[in-house]
Amino acid sequence: MFKVLSVEKVLSLQIHPSKQIAKKLYETKPDVYKDDNHKPEISIALSEFEALCNFRPYEELVEAFRENEVLRTFIGEEVVAHFQSCAVEERSKHLRQITESFFHKGKEEVQEAITKLIAQVSAKENKTPRDKLVLKLQTQFPFDIGVLMSYLLNYLIIQPGQAFVMDPCEPHAYVFGNCLEAMAASDNVIRGCLTPKYIDKETLSETLSYDMKNTVVLEGDKLYTHEKDGFQVVEYPTRYEEFTCRRVEINQPNKETSEFAYSYPSIALILKGKGLISVKHKEDNEYMNHEFKEGQSFLLLPDSVVKFASQEEGEVALCITTSQTL
Ligand SMILES: [Zn+2]
Repeated sequence: MFKVLSVEKVLSLQIHPSKQIAKKLYETKPDVYKDDNHKPEISIALSEFEALCNFRPYEELVEAFRENEVLRTFIGEEVVAHFQSCAVEERSKHLRQITESFFHKGKEEVQEAITKLIAQVSAKENKTPRDKLVLKLQTQFPFDIGVLMSYLLNYLIIQPGQAFVMDPCEPHAYVFGNCLEAMAASDNVIRGCLTPKYIDKETLSETLSYDMKNTVVLEGDKLYTHEKDGFQVVEYPTRYEEFTCRRVEINQPNKETSEFAYSYPSIALILKGKGLISVKHKEDNEYMNHEFKEGQSFLLLPDSVVKFASQEEGEVALCITTSQTL
């Protein structure tokens, strides 16, 4: 699946199950988890794009608890102390305990902590991006546990052309901006908070990865640059056979790009420009020409060859599958 996502209001804090977990969920809760597939996804920023992704590295979490008294008191001094002093191999277990403690607090306790936190953050003269995020979350989802939970995740702000991949069981919530999103064909979303939709805290805490790490930001690999032909191709590889994404940037108007060959079904989405897309089956001699303009998309059939010519600067996003079974 390939789509353009325009995020104005934060999208639920969620994870997607692995294939193995999806199979189990489909068996036990088919009314909620409607297929047995995994749903890894890649997001490529089209504007500055903000997201909460992956649990923050251990040292950052320790620092966040140290400097944020409201958070520390809310989780419990003792629970935090155990997390700070435990052996390396015990860290994930303690992070799970912390995460679950968020979900088990009473409504009043949550309200009290958020009220204190918002008062402190609002009073700060120089607000950090994270301070602004917390205020935004409270405005969009007043007294939602996600306001506090956001401190556990990396707050990522990426620029157009940068991307990240969300692996199974990694927590994430898209906060603001426009992006291209490609994912495996599944609807399996396990939501924790920041949403009016169905929340499944139990499944979430059971299936979360509890890996603490920085989110890897992909810059895109320059697959080839044809300066004299005025175009370049940037690839965003993933380890999933369902999707690899490419961006074709056309810098020189009215010049044809080289031919691109695709063995499996692919989608081309025109992000910018207007001109001609020429497509043929690899064994045919003749190209079929179609006019294209911004916002249109084309399904490229297996074993096709395609080339583009734009009358102005253009940009085409491609989502390429790498398996016949899809
Ligand atoms: Zn997602």
